[in-house]
Amino acid sequence: MSIPRSSSGKRLRSVVPGWGLFKGMWLTFRTFLRKPVTVMYPVEKEIPPERARGVIALDVEACTVCMLCARECPDWCIYIEGHKVQQPPAEPGGRARTRSVLDRFDIDFALCMFCGICVEVCPFDALFWSPEYEYSAESLADLLHGKERLTQWLATVPEPPALEGSEPEGGEP
Ligand code: SF4
Ligand code: SF4
Repeated sequence: MSIPRSSSGKRLRSVVPGWGLFKGMWLTFRTFLRKPVTVMYPVEKEIPPERARGVIALDVEACTVCMLCARECPDWCIYIEGHKVQQPPAEPGGRARTRSVLDRFDIDFALCMFCGICVEVCPFDALFWSPEYEYSAESLADLLHGKERLTQWLATVPEPPALEGSEPEGGEP
């Protein structure tokens, strides 16, 4: 059954008493029969899209302590500290080299606005998005994730999508 609209609807409204009320009740009834869109979290869980921005993961081995992500973060919620260590020369008689060692890498997810700039600007592919979203905390201070926690998120980072035109491994040439 469909409710007459436009000019005929206007006509009906003027001749049938309570037409507006009936129309409202009909809409309520139709909505009542529809499948609800609400998800009863945490009993029921939705699977986010694979590339969803849930939390940021850090690959400590790839990070060179260049500070670029911390400088570009619009919320100033990345805190990095490091120090330099002397490395022996690659060849005898060569110059000694220095290497940066990461001491602290924290992201404050209470401030983060999930813009993704840090992930985009990292020149050494040390930051990744994970779709993991279940890290709520009772206090704001607990949303400050240190490098150990950020490293743990690495296990939840999905494989990058295959490049356009690339062959799958072991596939036919
Ligand atoms: S996602 Fe944006 S706001 Fe969050 S840490 Fe990265 S740059 Fe900062
Ligand atoms: S931009 Fe990348 S390499 Fe540089 S400090 Fe940030 S995570 Fe480390």
